[in-house]
Amino acid sequence: MKKSRNTRQRGVILDILKESGAHPTAEMIYREARRVIPNISLGTVYRNLNCLREQGVVREIRPSDGGSSRFEGLHMPHAHFHCTRCNGLLDIPLPEFLETARFDDVAKIAAISSIDLHVIGSCSNCASPETH
Ligand SMILES: [Zn+2]
Ligand SMILES: [Zn+2]
Repeated sequence: MKKSRNTRQRGVILDILKESGAHPTAEMIYREARRVIPNISLGTVYRNLNCLREQGVVREIRPSDGGSSRFEGLHMPHAHFHCTRCNGLLDIPLPEFLETARFDDVAKIAAISSIDLHVIGSCSNCASPETH
């Protein structure tokens, strides 16, 4: 019984992540999940997100400024652009050279499983305050 309930919660959380083009925080996922499972708790959402992350189904993005972690369902490898003004998080392509980069000369690395690249600055919305 317990297992099927967990499976349902996990399914709901995954659906929210798939439907959301943004990178929601756990609180945002919690608010969405409550519409489907009214008695779900924030702790449960965190626990499920941790499980999914450990299974490699969900990726956690930790902002460099120490804000709330954001989550996304896994898809093609990509980098993130983080706007420090509006706190926006956008997907950007991973520069090709990074995927073929070799670091053997500078560090004792045997294998690289993933590359987590953050580009930080201000987005075009925040940089140009003029409205159209
Ligand atoms: Zn911005
Ligand atoms: Zn992303």
